[in-house]
Amino acid sequence: MDKKVPEIFGSLVFNDAVMKEKLPKDIYLSLKKTIEEGKDLDINVANVVASAMKDWAIEKGATHFTHWFQPMTGITAEKHDSFISPLSDGKVIMEFSGKELIKGEPDASSFPSGGLRATFEARGYTAWDPTSYAFIKDNSLCIPTVFCSYSGEVLDKKTPLLRSMEVLSEQCCRILHMFGDTDVKRVVSTVGPEQEYFLIDKEVYLKRKDLRLTGRTLFGAKPPKGQELEDHYFGSIRPRVMKFMEELNQELWKLGILAKTEHNEVAPAQHEIAPIFANANIATDHNQLMMDIMKKVAERHGMVCLLHEKPFAGVNGSGKHNNWSLTTNTGVNLFNPGKNPAENKRFLLFLAAVIKAVDEHQDLLRLSAASAGNDHRLGANEAPPAIVSMFLGDELTSILESIEKGCAYNCVTAKSMNTGVHVLPDFKKDTTDRNRTSPFAFTGNKFEFRMLGSSFSVSGPNIVLNTIVADALSQFADRLEKASDLSKEVDEIVRETYSNHKRIIFNGNNYAKEWVEEAERRGLLNLVSTPDALPYFVSEKNINLFTKHKIFTKSEIISRCELLLENYCKIINIEALTMLDIVRKDILPAVYEYSNMLATEVKNKKEIGIDVSGDSEVAIIEKIGKLASILYKKADSLEKALIAAADHNSTTAEHAKYYKDAVLSEMQELRATADELETIVGAKYWPFPTYSDLLYSV
Ligand code: ADP
Ligand code: MG
Repeated sequence: MDKKVPEIFGSLVFNDAVMKEKLPKDIYLSLKKTIEEGKDLDINVANVVASAMKDWAIEKGATHFTHWFQPMTGITAEKHDSFISPLSDGKVIMEFSGKELIKGEPDASSFPSGGLRATFEARGYTAWDPTSYAFIKDNSLCIPTVFCSYSGEVLDKKTPLLRSMEVLSEQCCRILHMFGDTDVKRVVSTVGPEQEYFLIDKEVYLKRKDLRLTGRTLFGAKPPKGQELEDHYFGSIRPRVMKFMEELNQELWKLGILAKTEHNEVAPAQHEIAPIFANANIATDHNQLMMDIMKKVAERHGMVCLLHEKPFAGVNGSGKHNNWSLTTNTGVNLFNPGKNPAENKRFLLFLAAVIKAVDEHQDLLRLSAASAGNDHRLGANEAPPAIVSMFLGDELTSILESIEKGCAYNCVTAKSMNTGVHVLPDFKKDTTDRNRTSPFAFTGNKFEFRMLGSSFSVSGPNIVLNTIVADALSQFADRLEKASDLSKEVDEIVRETYSNHKRIIFNGNNYAKEWVEEAERRGLLNLVSTPDALPYFVSEKNINLFTKHKIFTKSEIISRCELLLENYCKIINIEALTMLDIVRKDILPAVYEYSNMLATEVKNKKEIGIDVSGDSEVAIIEKIGKLASILYKKADSLEKALIAAADHNSTTAEHAKYYKDAVLSEMQELRATADELETIVGAKYWPFPTYSDLLYSV
C-alpha cells in the first residue's frame, strides 16, 4: 500500500463527507434529519440517495448490492443482487432504486427464529438503518439493515440494540436536564471492543478435522512448551503476522474502522486488535466486519484466524473486552470523574446507576456472555469467573464508603485530602486499571465488561448494559422529579444505592478460590455454565424489564432464549460426533498401525532367537493396547450418551443441562485417553498435527 492513511481512511464508506459531496443539498439535509432524528425517509429522497450511492459504488468497482444484516446466528448475512437491469435491446443498465435501498425481502425461513417462525409467516424484511453508513465489501455495496418478520417480530441483533440506545438516551436526558444540562439532546452509549484471536498456518489447520468442523481442538496433548514462560505477551511480532496486521489495518481503515492498537497476547500464536471506540451501533457493525475481514486477510497470508473462545486446551483462550461509556451530543463523557465537585454529583449519580444495574441484573450480564465456547474460559483462571462483580478501585470505593458513612472522604483513607468536603481527586486512569481479573471494571472514564467471548457479537451485552442502566436511571429520575431539594435527593440516592448494592463491588483477585466462597456469602449469583445462565433470560423480572422498555416482546425473549439453548445443544452435539469420527476413523487406526509395526519388530527379533521379554516394544504394545481398549469403550459410552440426548424428551433448558452433565463429561474422558495415547504413539503415526505443530506454525 503506497497510499497515505488519511487518503484511504473511509474510502469505501458512503459517509457524511461523500453524501455531502454527491447529494443535492436539500436531499442531503433531509437524509441528515432522518439519521439524526430518526425521521422517516421520503421515497423521493431515497430514490436520489440510491442513485448517488450506486454511481459512487460503481466508480469504486462494485457490481452488486446487498442488504447486510445481523440475524441471530451471531454472524452477518448478505444476499447479493447485481445492479444489472435488462433493456429491451438486449443491453443492460445499472440500476438501484430507493425502494431497493430502503427495503429487502429475504426469505426469513432459513434464519433461526427460535420458534417465532412456526407461528408467523416465513417472509422477512430488511430495512435500511441510515444511522450506519453503507460501505463496499467484496465488490458489493453493503447496506446496513435491520431484519424483522412479516408480522414485525424482530429477528436480528441490531433492532433491539438501537432500541436500547434510544431508551438509555431518553433516561440520561431526563436526569441531565434536571442537572441543568438542557443543551443535551442525545446521549449515546460508546463501545470499544478489544478483540483477541489466534493465527495458525493454513496447512496444519486443514489437517485438523476438529478445528475445521468445530473451531476448536477436541484432542491434543499438552505441548512441552505452552505459555508458561509468558514470552509471547507484548513480544515482538513475527514478520508474517506483521504483514497480516498491516494488510488488516489497511482493509479496516478503508471501511472507516479505526483499528488502533495491536499486540501479541499471552498464549503462543495469540494476538489482539483494538479499535478506537464508536457509538454502540457502529461499533457493533464494525466489530462484525472486523471479524469477517480478519478471516479473509488471514487466508490471503496462508493462515487461518481462529475466533473460537477456546481453540486450545491448556493455553489461554480468546475473549473480547467491551469498553462502554456514555457521551452526550455536546461531547461530555458522563463517566469522567473530573475535578469539579458540582459535576461530581452527576458523575456519582451515573456511577450509582451502574452499580445498581450491575447488582440487580447480574444474571442478564452473565447470560449475555454465555456460550458453549465461552464456558471453557469463564472461571478457568484466564478470564473472569462466572460471578459478576464490579471493580471500582480503592479511591472510588473509599469515596462511596465515606458518603455512606456520612463523613468526609478523608475519614476512610488517611492519605487523602482533608478539606472536609466530598471532593473527588483528579482521577488518574493509571491508578485504576490494573485489576485484570474483574468481569466489570471501572477504568478511569469507562467500564470494561470483560466476560465476552471472542466470537461474540457485542450487540447482546450492550443491549443488556444499555437497558439495565436505563432502568436504574429511570427510577432515579422518577425520584428526582418529585424531590423538593434536588441536590439532597441526589446525595441520598447515591448513599442508599451504595449501601444497598455494595456487595457487587469487589476490588480483589477474582481468580482466587476464596472469592467464590466470599461471593456466595454475599449472595451473588454464580452461574457456572451456559445451561445454568440462559434460563434466567425468561424470568418474570427480566421479561418485565425488557417489555417495560420495549426492547423485546415477551415472545421475542422466549424465542431468543430457546434459540440460544438449542444452539448450545447443537454445538456440543457436533463436537461429540466429530470426536467419535476422529477416534474411530483416525486415532484407533493410527494406534493399530503403530502397534503392528512394533509387533513386527518383536516377531523379527524372536525369529532370530532374541529374548524379547522386558523389551520396550512389548511394553509399549501392552500399554497402548490397554489404552486403545479404554478409548474404544469410552467412544461407545459417548455414543450412548448422544443417543440418549436425541431421545431426551424435555424442555430445551433441561436438554442443554443434559448435554452439559452427561455428554460433555464423556467427551472430556474420551479426550484424556486419546491425549495419553498421543504421548506414546510415534510422531509419524499420529494422524494429525500436534499442539506444538499448531501453536508454533506461524
Ligand atoms: P487501556 O488504557 O485499558 O489500555 P484504552 O484507553 O486504550 O485502554 O482503551 C481500550 C479500549 O477502550 C479501546 O478500544 C478504546 O477505544 C476503548 N475506549 C476508550 N474510551 C472509551 C469510551 N469513552 N467509551 C467506549 N470505549 C472506550
Ligand atoms: Mg482490556
